[in-house]
Amino acid sequence: MARTRVLVTGGAGFIGSALCRRLAADARYEVLNLDKLTYAADLASLRAVEGQANYGLAIADIADLATVQGIFAQFRPDWVFHLAAETHVDRSIDGPEAFLQTNVIGTERLLMAALGYWRALDAAARAGFRFVHVSTDEVYGALGATGAFTEESAYRPNSPYAASKAASDHLARAWHVTYGLPVVISNCSNNYGPFQFPEKLIPHIVIRALNGETLPVYGQGANIRDWLFVGDHVTALCAVAERGRPGEKYNIGGHGERRNIDVVRTICAQLDRLRPSNAGSYADRIEFVSDRPGHDFRYAIDPGKAERELGWRQTTEFDAGLAATVAWYLENEPWWRAKLAGGYRAERLGTQLNP
Ligand code: NAD
Repeated sequence: MARTRVLVTGGAGFIGSALCRRLAADARYEVLNLDKLTYAADLASLRAVEGQANYGLAIADIADLATVQGIFAQFRPDWVFHLAAETHVDRSIDGPEAFLQTNVIGTERLLMAALGYWRALDAAARAGFRFVHVSTDEVYGALGATGAFTEESAYRPNSPYAASKAASDHLARAWHVTYGLPVVISNCSNNYGPFQFPEKLIPHIVIRALNGETLPVYGQGANIRDWLFVGDHVTALCAVAERGRPGEKYNIGGHGERRNIDVVRTICAQLDRLRPSNAGSYADRIEFVSDRPGHDFRYAIDPGKAERELGWRQTTEFDAGLAATVAWYLENEPWWRAKLAGGYRAERLGTQLNP
C-alpha cells in the first residue's frame, strides 16, 4: 500500500516534533519536516527519527513562496499539517513584526503553494488532500469565571500573537470557502510535555527552580489555562486529518483547567519530592511579579465536537502528565542546559514595546 505523504511545517518545534516522531514511527506515513529552524527549533527532539527512510527535513521559510512551491512539487504531499509559527506571547508583546511575517504572510504563502499544487492533482488525490491548520484557543480572547470556548465562539484576540493566529485562521478558512482547498482548522488549548522550549511556563519554572532562582508568577497567579499533554494533541491532529470535515474547525482540549499558581505549586511539590533542596521548599521562592500586559484571565475549551465527530479523547490527565513532564526535565538536564549555554537566559520578556 502506498504511504500517506505528510508535510509538517514547524516540525522542529515542540508540538511539530512530537507529531513527526509519532508519524515517522508508523510505516504507513512518509514525513517531510519543513522548518526554518528559528531559536524555537530543536533538532535534538528529532534524534529518534532522523536517518529513518520515511523521515526528511527541508530547511526553509514558509514565507519563501518559490522554495515552498518547489517542496510541494517534489514531495507531493497528501496531507499538510501547518504548525510553523512564532508562538511566544511575551515575545509578541516586545516585537510583533516577526509574528505578522511568519504567522500571517507565511501562512498566506503556504496556502498559495498548497492551492497551486492541489489544483493540479487528479480528482481522487484532490478529494483526499487535507491542509490541517493548527491554531490556538487564544484567538477567542479571554473568558470570565465560567463557560468554555466552542467552535462558534467569537474571535477576540488580545495579544499580538493571538491576533496573528486569528488572522491566519481567517486566511485558512477563506482559502477553503473561496478556492475550495480542503482546509480543516484545529484550535487547541495550552500544551505541555517533553522538549518544550524553556520560555513556556512549565519548563521555565522547573529550570529556574533547579538553578536556584526565584519563581516568577504573573499578577497573583489567578489566571487559568486549560492544559493538554502534547501527545494527546498529536493524536487529535491525526484524527483531524483522517476524519475532520473540510471547512470545519475543531476545538481540542483536555478538561485540564488550572490556576497558574496551582500549576507552579504542584511543580514545586514534585521537585521537593524528586530533587529536595537544602534551601527548603521550592515554593518558598515563588515571587509575584507585575502582570503580563493584556493578560487573558481564563481559557477553557469545550472539546465536545472533536470527541463526538472525530472519536478523539485525551488519554493523559493533567496531574499524571505534569508529573511525567517534570520527571522528563530532571532526566534531561543536558538538553535544557544546552539551551541556556546557547544564549537563552530565562529572563522576563513581554513588558514593553519600543517602536
Ligand atoms: P514552537 O515555537 O515550539 O515551534 C515553532 C516551529 O516553527 C519552530 O521549529 C520554528 O523553527 C518553526 N518556524 C517558525 N517560523 C518559521 C517559518 N517562517 N518558516 C518555517 N518554520 C518556521 O511552537 P509550538 O509550541 O510547537 O506550536 C506549534 C503550533 O501549534 C503553532 O502554530 C502554535 O500557534 C500552535 N499551538 C501551540 C500551542 C502550545 O501550547 N504550544 C497550543 C495551541 C496551538
